[in-house]
Amino acid sequence: MVNLKDQIVDGVTRLSRDEQQFISGLRRIARIGKFIAPAYGHRRQLRMLEEAIEQNHPAVQLVRRILDECNESCVRCLTRLFVEHSWEGYRRRRRLREKLGHGVPSFIVISPLAACNLHCSGCYAGAYGDREPHLTTSDIERLIEEVRQWGCRFITISGGEPTMFWRRIPGEKRGLRDVFRTYDDMMFLMYTNGTLIDDEIAAEVAELGNISPAISLEGFGEDTDARRGEGVFDRVVGAMERLREHRALFGASVTYTSRNWETVTSDEFVEMLIDYGCMYAWYFMYIPVGRDPDLSLMVTPEQRRQVALTTWRWLTSRPIFVADFWNSGPLTRGCIAAGSADGYLHVTHRGDICPCVFMMYSDHNLHETDSETPLMDAIEGQLFRRIREGQETKQNNPLAPCQIVDHPEVLKQAVETSGARDTQQGQKILTELHEEVMQRAQQWREISAQLWTQSGIYRGFADLYSDDGWLRPG
Ligand code: SF4
Repeated sequence: MVNLKDQIVDGVTRLSRDEQQFISGLRRIARIGKFIAPAYGHRRQLRMLEEAIEQNHPAVQLVRRILDECNESCVRCLTRLFVEHSWEGYRRRRRLREKLGHGVPSFIVISPLAACNLHCSGCYAGAYGDREPHLTTSDIERLIEEVRQWGCRFITISGGEPTMFWRRIPGEKRGLRDVFRTYDDMMFLMYTNGTLIDDEIAAEVAELGNISPAISLEGFGEDTDARRGEGVFDRVVGAMERLREHRALFGASVTYTSRNWETVTSDEFVEMLIDYGCMYAWYFMYIPVGRDPDLSLMVTPEQRRQVALTTWRWLTSRPIFVADFWNSGPLTRGCIAAGSADGYLHVTHRGDICPCVFMMYSDHNLHETDSETPLMDAIEGQLFRRIREGQETKQNNPLAPCQIVDHPEVLKQAVETSGARDTQQGQKILTELHEEVMQRAQQWREISAQLWTQSGIYRGFADLYSDDGWLRPG
C-alpha cells in the first residue's frame, strides 16, 4: 500500500514533458490508483481520468499545465493531497462514521481574522474587522490537530484578509506561514484579495508548495476597481505574475452578483484567468447573509441557470478547474455543510463553529470549552444535527441543495429549534428577507429540477443518483 502510494506521488512528480511519455505515464498512474482507491466514487473518478486521456479532455491539458507551470514542491503536495487526504483519509473517515453513526467532515474552513486591508463596498470586514478578535496560532493548531485525527489533510483559510497574518499574528512571534511550514504534510487553500502578496510571500508560497492562494476577482479592471478601490486590479495581476514567476500553484475566487454575472461568465474572462496562470477558479454566488445584506445583488433564478450552464461548459472545455460552490452540487451529492460525510464546517475569527461559511449561526464556540474535540462536539450538537437531518429529508435535486437559499424554511426551523445564536447579529435572511428568499427558492427549485432531469448534460451522473430520494438526472 505504502509503496503504491509513493509510486503514484513520485510518478506524477516525474511525469515526462514528452507528450507520448506523459500520456503513457498518466495511464499507468490511473491503473495503479485503482488498486488503492478506497471507494466506488474514487474508482469512478479514475475511470473518468482514463476516458479523459483517450479523448485528450481539457482536464488532461490541465494536468499538463500544472506540470509545466508549477514547481516540483507544489506538484508533490497536490498529488499527496489526493492520495493521503482523499483516499487514505477517506478510509479513516469511513471507519469513524461507522463507529460514531454520523458524518465526519472531509475538511474545515478557518477564518483567523475578520480584518482586511481593503474596504470593498458591501463587505463587512472593512467596516467592522479592525475591532474584532482573531484566532491565535495555538487556536489554529488546536483545530488542525483535531481534524488530523479524521485523516484530514486539507484546510481552507479564509478571512478577512489572511495575508495580513502571513508573517506574524498580532501579539505573537509566529504567523500563518509558520503554521503552514509546521504542517507540511497538509495542503492549505487560502482565499485572499492578493494585494499584499509581494515577492517574498510569492517565493515562500512556491517554496512551501502546500499553500495555494485563491485570489479574488470581480471581473476585468473596471469592475474590480469599482468595488474594491482604484488600482486594485493591477495589484491583483501583479500578485499573479509574481506567483507565476516563482512557479506557485494558484487560482481565482469569483463572487457573482446580478451586476457582474455576465462579465464573469464571458469566455474572455475565463481565458484571462488561464492566461494569468490560474489553475482553478471557485465561483461563489452572492447571497444576502451577514450585515447589510442586499437581495438585489443576488442573481435571479434565470441568471443562476445561465451561470450553472456556463461553469459546467467550462469544466468540460477549458484547461482550468472551475467549481461553482452552489451549482456544482452534482459533484458532491448536494450540500456539504454541518460536517456531513465528506462535507465541511467553518470556524470563525471569534471561534464560533458554524455549519457553513454562509450559515452564520452557531451553538458551539472554541473558546468556551476545554474539550479536546471541540469540532466533534459541534458536529454532535443540536444545530449540526438538524441541518444534516434537513439534508437527508429535503434534498432531492443536487442543483438545489442549499438550506440558505433553496430550502430556507429548513434552516429557519433548524436555527429556531436548536437555540443557535446568530454570529453576525442583525442578519435578515431568516426575518425580513425570508419571504422573498422563499419565493426565489421555489422558482429555482422548479427551474433546476428541469435542468437536472431534462437538459441531458448531467446524464453521466446517473449511477451516483440511483438511490431513493434523488431525482434521476436525464
Ligand atoms: S449550506 Fe448552502 S452554501 Fe453551505 S454548503 Fe450547503 S449548499 Fe453550500
